[in-house]
Amino acid sequence: MLKLYNTLTREKEEFHPIKQNVVTMYSCGPTVYNYAHIGNLRTYVFMDMLRRSLRYCGYKIKGVMNITDVGHLLSDADDGEDKMEKAAKEQKKTPREIADYYTEIFFKDLTRLNIGKPEIIAKATEHIPDMISYVQDLVKKGYGYETSDGIYFDIAKFDGYGKLSRLNLDEQIAGARVEVNTEKRHPADFALWKKAEKNHIMQWESPWGMGYPGWHIECSAMSRKYLGVTFDIHTGGVDHIPVHHENEIAQSEAREGAKTVNTWMHGEFMLVDGGKMSKSLGNTYTIDNLIERGYSPLAFRYFCLNAHYRKKLNFTFEGMDAAQTAYTRLLETLYKHKTSAESTEPQKLDGYIKEFRSAVEDDLNLPLALGVLWTMTKEKPSNDIYKTALLFDEVLGLDLKAARAPEKANDEPVPDEVKALAEKRLAARKNKDWAESDRLREQIAALGYSVTDGKDGFTVKKM
Ligand code: AMP
Ligand code: ZN
Repeated sequence: MLKLYNTLTREKEEFHPIKQNVVTMYSCGPTVYNYAHIGNLRTYVFMDMLRRSLRYCGYKIKGVMNITDVGHLLSDADDGEDKMEKAAKEQKKTPREIADYYTEIFFKDLTRLNIGKPEIIAKATEHIPDMISYVQDLVKKGYGYETSDGIYFDIAKFDGYGKLSRLNLDEQIAGARVEVNTEKRHPADFALWKKAEKNHIMQWESPWGMGYPGWHIECSAMSRKYLGVTFDIHTGGVDHIPVHHENEIAQSEAREGAKTVNTWMHGEFMLVDGGKMSKSLGNTYTIDNLIERGYSPLAFRYFCLNAHYRKKLNFTFEGMDAAQTAYTRLLETLYKHKTSAESTEPQKLDGYIKEFRSAVEDDLNLPLALGVLWTMTKEKPSNDIYKTALLFDEVLGLDLKAARAPEKANDEPVPDEVKALAEKRLAARKNKDWAESDRLREQIAALGYSVTDGKDGFTVKKM
């Protein structure tokens, strides 16, 4: 019996979809104004693990993911600059060009990480009329009110506000920043629709003049459109709990007069070197950055699978080195089985299959499931073990069919020129001169070598 942890109830619950065999699922997608960093991607690896696990347990999936290609303001509150427009101005492109460019790269990242695309990809800009009529309904029902700069949701009218984050209204107010909008009835009221200032690039006609949607409305409107009033699972990162998902619940339940999501699931954050990722620290790595450093995208996926999705995961290059080594060793160990003509007793295989399944069913305990796979590979070589590993790979997505013979050790010495560049790069890193460090990495790569950073220095390898 599959059990999933529901953020709403803070409990692991037996999972029973509304329709017997099809799971309806909505995942908050990216805001496409920049490259996805490895933290964002951890959240989509989690989404993919969940989708794969559901399929493994016999369900079909109707999944929707949104692409936020309308402006999403710089703060979760309703003011600040529009992220999409800011990127467009900086890069001298239109918001459409920015959105299309980063959407394509996002999809490429998903492919490289073996993350299956949800069945329906819904772009916010293609659903503006759905959002407008959604807001109109909320206004008609008395939950939305107009101010001089937009339409706001009146949270005092909605009884359950705060039930997902378990914050009461006073705590919400204490957390809110100094209020600038004096027309709002409550400081935590949030925008459903904003009236556009003249210079706002992205704007649409609406019953309230030219404007653009508030951030949260797209997820309520698009999940309703594709999945109906109530659907099974909603996913996102933990940062969405207190604002975005709280507001989504308010909008959706107010409009429908019903519970709209049965199970809320959230992926924990990825940290880098024990702290937050931020541009100023130079640690918002992308998948391309990892590839440049000689890691394979699937080694990053392995790194993610090694931690439970509800635990924080601290990214370090030492950890990434260990993941890459373990992943390579897994492929090499499986090769013995792939090339074996021997078989294994069915009872033994069944034992592993049961253990694997019960780990998956226990709120996606994939670190444990991975452990079962490892134990199984220690059996004497047999093609049945390889076939069973491929079955497990339906959940793990590690491309285990690529099992290969160990590479012959390369004992050619690293040229002095490359070593000297790597030493210079280490010095630059110690000075936190990331630009110089990246430049030197490119120079090393041009000579056919990759460099990876470790606790006590670096390792240089032929590419
Ligand atoms: P955004 O494009 O900012 O909406 O973020 C896309 C997804 O990445 C959201 O589901 C966020 O919750 C998630 N996310 C953002 N930062 C991190 C992080 N450091 N670790 C894990 N997930 C994250
Ligand atoms: Zn959302």
